Amino acid sequence: MALVTEQTKKYVFTTDKPENEHWTHIYGIGQKVPVSGIYRCYACGDEITSNQGDPFPPQNKSQHECQGKPVQWELIVRTQTKA
Ligand SMILES: [Zn+2]
Repeated sequence: MALVTEQTKKYVFTTDKPENEHWTHIYGIGQKVPVSGIYRCYACGDEITSNQGDPFPPQNKSQHECQGKPVQWELIVRTQTKA
């Protein structure tokens, strides 16, 4: 679970567009990251940060144990950039 402090929680907001595809779609290994942010593995709960346009990382069994379930990434926190 992504963490914030009492001091930093003021910078985290709930989106007014939860219907956007990047919030509702689950992404597989090697797919293109749609928006930069924190993604959570649907199978094991591990979290990663990924940049828009990069491929989602391959499964690394030593650091990412999903017990046979497929690695699928869901966006949990989107970063806000000016570009
Ligand atoms: Zn996993």
